[in-house]
Amino acid sequence: MARFDLDLLQAYVGQAETMFALSNGYLGIRGTIDEGQPVEEPGTYLNGFYETRPITYGESAYGFPDTGQSMLVCPDGTPIRLTVDDEIFDLAKAEVLEFSRRLDLAKGVLTRNVTWRTQRGRRLTLKTTRLVSFDMKHVAAIRWELVPEDDVDLVISSEIVERAPLPLEDFDPRLAETPDGSILCPTGGSVDGLRAVLGFVTCGSRLALGCAMDHVLETSSPCETVAERKETGAAVTMRIAGRAGVPVRLTKFMAYHYGAEDGDDMVAAARASLDKAIARGFPALLARQEKNVAQFWAGADVEVEGDLAMQQVIRWNLFQLMQASFRVHGHGIGARGLTGRSYEGHYFWDTEIYVLPFLNYTAPDTARAVLKFRYDMLPQARARARELGHRGATFPWRTINGNEASAYYAAGTAQYHINADIAYALNRYVEVSGDDGFMIRYGAEILVETARFWLDLGFFSARREGRFCINAVTGPDEYNAVVDNNYFTNLMAQENLRLAAKVVLSLGSEARAALIERTGLAPEEPGAWSEAADRMYLPYDERLGVHPQDDSFLDKEVWDFENTPEENYPLLLNYHPLNLYRSQVIKQADTLLAMFLMNGSFADAEKKRDFDYYDPITTHDSSLSVCIQSIMASEIGYSRKAFDYFNFAASMDLSDVGGNVKHGAHVASIGGTWMALAYGFAGLRDGSGKTRFRPRLPAEWTRLQIPLTIRGRRLRMSIDHQETVYRLEAGDAIEIMHEDETVQMGPAVPEARRPTTKAPPDPELDSGAVDPAEPDDIM
Ligand code: BGC
Repeated sequence: MARFDLDLLQAYVGQAETMFALSNGYLGIRGTIDEGQPVEEPGTYLNGFYETRPITYGESAYGFPDTGQSMLVCPDGTPIRLTVDDEIFDLAKAEVLEFSRRLDLAKGVLTRNVTWRTQRGRRLTLKTTRLVSFDMKHVAAIRWELVPEDDVDLVISSEIVERAPLPLEDFDPRLAETPDGSILCPTGGSVDGLRAVLGFVTCGSRLALGCAMDHVLETSSPCETVAERKETGAAVTMRIAGRAGVPVRLTKFMAYHYGAEDGDDMVAAARASLDKAIARGFPALLARQEKNVAQFWAGADVEVEGDLAMQQVIRWNLFQLMQASFRVHGHGIGARGLTGRSYEGHYFWDTEIYVLPFLNYTAPDTARAVLKFRYDMLPQARARARELGHRGATFPWRTINGNEASAYYAAGTAQYHINADIAYALNRYVEVSGDDGFMIRYGAEILVETARFWLDLGFFSARREGRFCINAVTGPDEYNAVVDNNYFTNLMAQENLRLAAKVVLSLGSEARAALIERTGLAPEEPGAWSEAADRMYLPYDERLGVHPQDDSFLDKEVWDFENTPEENYPLLLNYHPLNLYRSQVIKQADTLLAMFLMNGSFADAEKKRDFDYYDPITTHDSSLSVCIQSIMASEIGYSRKAFDYFNFAASMDLSDVGGNVKHGAHVASIGGTWMALAYGFAGLRDGSGKTRFRPRLPAEWTRLQIPLTIRGRRLRMSIDHQETVYRLEAGDAIEIMHEDETVQMGPAVPEARRPTTKAPPDPELDSGAVDPAEPDDIM
């Protein structure tokens, strides 16, 4: 075990709570210390369990959302406090002899081992194993095993505590609103034996919560137990006459359920989950955890040879994707997953553009569930479009319950591109999974409503030779808000309109009749969408040879980067939005993201010119940026930059590059890390109906292996500097493209080997071009 460093532990309490967080996509628990101290922000979250609150505007206007939504902190069931001979065990005071914490990526558990000596010189060893079950999504469990080396009196107090969220001290608009005091109203609770059960209801969202804990105590030492209801929860206290060398093993099971107040009894559901978990037993939970995790790795592990540390970083990232999505069915994926309260647990476009690609290629059923969840938001999206005076549907920029929760319209509602992002993601999911049925039953309806919306939002401009223009929108880059003809938005809307027309026209008569029934689709609509798409205004600046990010972008003064001190990044925390809006300064990949997403529409030279123009003025103040920059750099042969940006993306959380990981993991960047591996270095391209690869292995690595599930086939690619090996591991014959060659594999001939193209000498190395932002600059 490692030497214990109290200062280090205390300095990184918040970061560690995020890095060691456990989650299954439904239930998430931050990686708090078992004794409950030291603590920065304890958090137990349930996906979609939220409270509403009025949004108060100094100056309101028509159509501003009036109700905010905040993911709630549930009662914390993790603390197990210990007193040894009247001395409270506290890491900050104990004489700790050995200490380690480990997130076991193969077993899906968090372990903590500690050996210490009490003031009276008694030595004890405590091992804990914590899991949030992938198998039983409502259940978490802790195995706590103590071995005293001497006879000692032990008092163990295992608690479930309701805590008002601590106010977040920093000024940062990205953080969650902190409610005053508790917002969970108790509806009852009971204690019985070693079990405590609590019921609550929320006042605004009217959601009922049932949470419970139970224990199995195993020791041959004499003991007494008592369970008590407390003002802020419940505690089970166990007094044990500990004997030298006799282990005390406590297994704590926790269960959390929520649902509509007038629905099923959530307290009863929590009891039932506890009964089931106890009957199953901790070893069985552990075994199933390991099995689920092993299955995940079989289909998702990306192996890198030549950089062991980076391999670990990549695996931590991938594991976060499993944690954010495994049992997400019926919910969305929040910007921080279930690892922290930042962004209030809201779902953004992050899911569709940054996480869906990974799910498409590793867990298509989960990808489907996430898109189905979007589909289920259509009623609210239709209502929102009506409220804003539009036809069709417009999805919320940020939400939990389907209603718009963004209070700042310029960087919220105006990001209409989310509609096209959803349409795009839907199409890619269907292409990669082959799930045409999803498109017919659900996707077509989303496409119809979003296409209607675009047609209504834009207009054919006489001043621009009858081109279809879309004004007053914000693209992905939130440093240039409410602009006309944002290139990203127009390009993605064009794709949305095209897809809608294509899908509707390809439907069989029965499916079309059902769609007409659901949407009132008129015969002339697909033609009108195609026309808008064909005449979409997509400007190009002849002089610079680049695609302007929007109509006014190139007219703006370039931000004074030279005189912007390091500590002023991210700019959003130090400059009024208007200062940013009037300059050429970019928060995150925008036009370059459009070029990546609609890759086939651009020549390499165009990509290179846009990259050269936009890269030096992009601050990457959003964590969604560097992964995309890496992919584009890889594509145009800037291998050094591609590698550096990849490192930034992959290390975003573990190196805490933005200094804010204590508030939660950056799930989009984590998905983007996989994208940079798959789309960047493995050169994956989809969207043309064919899966293509143009692998470009970084010089620093000797091999990259990546498994991909494509239309039910499992393909594993192994890239080294000489050759790329494609191996069909499961499923029927498959055809792919390697560079420009068609490659076929099937059960009889499952392997194909092709030479790996060497990355061309990187022109960037000699050009003296601007280096990527320093790590500190990235949020
Ligand atoms: C980014 C958005 C993103 C949001 C949540 C913001 O900082 O600009 O693109 O959706 O964070 O991750």
